[in-house]
Formats: sequence, C-alpha cells, structure tokens
Amino acid sequence: MKENVFQRMEREGTKEFTKQFMEMQKWDYRTKLFHAASRANDFVNECKRRGLNYHASVGGLDSITMLLWLRRIGIEMPAISASTLEDKSIQAVHKQIGVVNIPPLKDKDGKTYTKARVIRDFGFPVISKEIAAKIELLQNPSEKNKTVRHAIITGETGEYGGNQKNSRMKLAQKWLDLFGGYENETEGVHYGVPDFKVSSKCCYYLKERPCGIWAKEHNSVPFVGLMASEGGRREKALKMHGCNYFGATSIRCAPFAIFSRQDVLQLALDLNVPVPSIYGEIVRDPDGTLRTTGAERTGCSLCGFGIHLEQRPNRFDKLRERNPKEWEYLMTHLVQDESGEWYGWGKVLDYIGVGWQDEPGDVLPGQISFFEQRSKE
Ligand code: SF4
Repeated sequence: MKENVFQRMEREGTKEFTKQFMEMQKWDYRTKLFHAASRANDFVNECKRRGLNYHASVGGLDSITMLLWLRRIGIEMPAISASTLEDKSIQAVHKQIGVVNIPPLKDKDGKTYTKARVIRDFGFPVISKEIAAKIELLQNPSEKNKTVRHAIITGETGEYGGNQKNSRMKLAQKWLDLFGGYENETEGVHYGVPDFKVSSKCCYYLKERPCGIWAKEHNSVPFVGLMASEGGRREKALKMHGCNYFGATSIRCAPFAIFSRQDVLQLALDLNVPVPSIYGEIVRDPDGTLRTTGAERTGCSLCGFGIHLEQRPNRFDKLRERNPKEWEYLMTHLVQDESGEWYGWGKVLDYIGVGWQDEPGDVLPGQISFFEQRSKE
C-alpha cells in the first residue's frame, strides 16, 4: 500500500526534528548567529560539491540584512530581487547594495505581466497565499483536484492524507462561509460565492517564476531570509526541513530560520544596515524591545495578503494618503465585469468585511478614526 503523509513524516523523523527546531528558536542571539554562519558555510560547501552556484534572494529588511551579513562572514554571491514590486525606498537600497532587478514574466506575445493584469486574468491575491490558493482551486474545479476540494470544504483527506477527518486542509469557517459555495451542490452545503476571482498566481508571475528562470539559467540556488517565527506556510516548511534543504525539486538555505524579529533587528543594527525609509528607524523601547518606527513588514502595494489582520489606517488607507489617484484606480477601476462595470479592491474588501472608505462606520471600537489620524498629522 502507498505510504501516507503521516507514515512519511514518521520515516523522515519530522516530529523529532520539529521539536529540536523549536528548542533552537529559544537560543540566545549569539548562539543563533554562530549556528547560522555554520549552516550557511555547510550550504556553500554542499553546493560546491554538487557543482551548483548560489545567490541571495532579496526583498525587504530581513533579506537585505541577510545579504550584508553573508558578505560580512565572507560568503560572496550575486543578489537578485523582483525589485520593481517593492517600495521605492527598498528599491533604492537594493540599488545601493548591488541587488540585480528581475522583471516580471512576459506572455507568449512578449507583453510583460503587471500586477493589474495578473489580477484581471487570474484574480485578487487576498487573505493569504495559502488560502487564496485554496479558493482558486474551488473556483477552478477539475477531476484532478476533486479530492483536494473535498478536503478544503470538509477537512476529510483521501488515502494519501491519512484519511483524516478534520485536517488543516479545511478552510476556516469564516472563509468557508464566504467562499465555499462553489461546492454547495457536491457537498450539500450552503456557503457564499463571491462575484470576483481570487488567486495566488500573482507571486508566481511577478516574482517566483522570473527569479526561478534566472536561477536555472545561472545554475544557482538561493539563500533566503525566511524565519519560522513569521508563521504561515513558511513556518511549517522551515520547521520540517531546517535551515538547509536539498530536496528533489527545491534547494535553499534559510540561515535565519530559527531567528526572531528581534534577532534580525539586532543584527541590522550591529551591521549598520541601510534601513529603507519605509521602515523608519530601528529603535529600542524602554523594555529593551527593538522595533521599526515605520512599517513593520512591507510588501507589494497592490497586495491583499494579510489585509484582514491590519488595523486602520491599513495599507490601502496609507496608499490613499500618498497617492489618492492610484488608490482610486485600485479601489474602483481595476477590473471590468461582464456587464462592463468597473470594480477593484473596494468590492473585495467589502466582501471580506475590511473597511476602506472614509466613513465613521469603518472604524472599529477603540481604534483611531482615519479622519482623526489625519487631523492629528
Ligand atoms: S506579494 Fe502580493 S502583490 Fe506581491 S507578487 Fe505576491 S501576490 Fe502579488
């Protein structure tokens, strides 16, 4: 009989490894740094043994810090980034430290994909990459994805998934209520169906695939600035595979895998890393905690991943402050429906219950209203 996912985890010692990993996350900053340097050097040696080149995949402050730290410990390599998706201040730092910009994919007619075009063609990147990918599957049913769709709605996995009854494949009830209706007939449920598309393809077309092509052409594998403490899908993968992963289809080194945000900020201070202005400055609170005075994390301006977790003023409110015209376009004029009506992020945010308009009703109890915030500035 075919091995299921639990039997495979047992064989690979995943449980034990995850436990060890979580112990390492509790180490002090110096010990973690020492460990990271040792793992980075192991990675380089293994790449050399396999005849592979290596590069740094750079985005925001974490991976900028990683690149400068790798250089500091004597590991030199090219650095690449889908820079044009980043904030202007991040692009400026990329330029300053010699990061090569990788443009988005082109279609078969030679036309470059833009964020707006990917949204029009495939759907909105909203909630999280993992959830958007699940909703996208529901919106694009096929015989091949039948078992997965069933698991997304019910949590029941097939044989490979160990015949579980309540697996984590199931969408949270909140999202099932809004997006699970594509399976109403097949599953006998009564969930909602949005009148817009959702997709996780944006990252693929604009970042992952173009950087993947570069890597293939250069026979190169990446150092990435990922940390398990950031949560999400990355956390699971890092805890299962550790800092260095030489898999059949993917190879990477995540030397900061066991780091916390505090560790990275401390390292950025120690290395005097040029901090892109979108983050503000790195400061220490009276209790010793480090934080950035501006954005804590950055991402693409047109992205909806994590938007439901933000307080107002959220990223779209801030964009409105900086660039009201772009905001107007993104909120109301991004996609045309079948009847020719324009809509944008506004419709998506309304559907998932995230406020975006300048109305008192958008402000949750205890939050500063967007109006008040502006009058204070
Ligand atoms: S982070 Fe968001 S906007 Fe940026 S490429 Fe990925 S999905 Fe697209």
